[in-house]
Amino acid sequence: MSQFSGRIAIALDNVAMTFPRGTQALRPVSLQIAAGQFLCLLGPSGCGKSTLLRIIAGLQMPSAGEVIRDDGAGSVSFVFQDAHLLPWRNISRNVTLPLELAGIEKSTRRARASEMLEQVGLADFQRHYPAQLSGGMKMRASLARALVSNPSLLLLDEPFAAVDEMTRQKLDEQLLELWRKRGMTVIFVTHSVAEAAFLGQRAVVFSPRPGRVLLDHVLDLPAQRNLALRSDPQFARECGVLYQALEQGGRA
Ligand code: ADP
Repeated sequence: MSQFSGRIAIALDNVAMTFPRGTQALRPVSLQIAAGQFLCLLGPSGCGKSTLLRIIAGLQMPSAGEVIRDDGAGSVSFVFQDAHLLPWRNISRNVTLPLELAGIEKSTRRARASEMLEQVGLADFQRHYPAQLSGGMKMRASLARALVSNPSLLLLDEPFAAVDEMTRQKLDEQLLELWRKRGMTVIFVTHSVAEAAFLGQRAVVFSPRPGRVLLDHVLDLPAQRNLALRSDPQFARECGVLYQALEQGGRA
């Protein structure tokens, strides 16, 4: 995995955010993210993680600093905590939506949605409607919709926070598999230490609001991540490193 060499996909240069009414969400943050890297942003609720993700996506202007993005040929996709599926469209037609908006013709859209739904394990649910799916399945449909346009950058904002623990574990593993297959840059926001350690090649820990970087840590864990890793002593050590940074930030 070319995590520290090659192209820089995103460079944040002293990016800071104070909202117009005076809430300071982020102190200046500078980070470089390599193309194809899986980065987790970890921090307590309200520390500015979502704000930073929105700034990276270009959905929000920072009040200071600069974001330089080199997306290559690909696009950017965003996955939110809520699956945001359209209830009146079946799963296949939810997944084809970005392709429809991009003007791609019907048979190609259907074929790509079908392939994507197969990859997330929803091949048999294409004609179902969102209300007929469990929370985990809805998130998988949301992932399929995010990936169907083949983005070079995937941004996820606590996407699995609302599902139960076992479903979350499966979704984490599925996301890693998709990342390995596709090689896009991933930025994953979470407030869970264990999830950040399980998923990331690198974890950036933020202080309470206004967020600043407390720790930028390369996770010393095997590339292959599975359930067994969670009971590995090295996994516990890496979680400990992240916890310690969070705790020190909370005391400062
Ligand atoms: P996190 O994702 O870490 O939970 P957020 O980025 O959502 O944190 O929020 C950081 C802080 O900025 C919070 O205090 C939040 O209330 C505030 N905030 C977020 N969006 C806005 C906005 N549009 N206007 C004013 N304040 C905001």
